[in-house]
Amino acid sequence: MKLVILDRDGTLNRESDEYIKTPDEWHALPGALEAVGRLNHAGYHVVLATNQSGLGRGLFDVAALNAIHKRMNKELAAVGGRLDAIFYCPHTPADACTCRKPLPGLLEQVAERFGVSLNGVPFVGDSLSDMQAAHAAGCTAHLVLTGWSEPLRGKALPDAFPPLTQLHTDLNAFVDSFLKKSTEALS
Ligand SMILES: [Zn+2]
Repeated sequence: MKLVILDRDGTLNRESDEYIKTPDEWHALPGALEAVGRLNHAGYHVVLATNQSGLGRGLFDVAALNAIHKRMNKELAAVGGRLDAIFYCPHTPADACTCRKPLPGLLEQVAERFGVSLNGVPFVGDSLSDMQAAHAAGCTAHLVLTGWSEPLRGKALPDAFPPLTQLHTDLNAFVDSFLKKSTEALS
């Protein structure tokens, strides 16, 4: 199965310090939805793995999260993109769960659901915790310099990041590089 796992906030849509609590607060990053469509067109299944501690903090409920995802899926569909599944951690750090990134539990749920090994599966995100989760789960770690990591543009990657973290300007740039490599691997 050809699989790509994406973080949500800061990778697909604009990050917010105040959490994304309603569909109106969800705004796609430029080119990000089209990038998902390009992956789909190349035969990849795309799923999300996202920390949504706003649920555990009582800032919004599952109905609101579903409404946000309905908007996201509608906008994706308009550009020929599709997500196969959305995995989310609803917990706060105080819950000490195993699914909140940087732990690999959420990515392991993806592997379990689809019956695949995560070895070599790309996980794309905008934060240190995404890269740590990717590394811990055996995914390849792809950092997009959007969202939390936008300030890292033009700078060296801090030492805290796992070795072999690959950098991309944004999701579209990741897809450019990833599809090019997949094509080269076939030829
Ligand atoms: Zn959790």
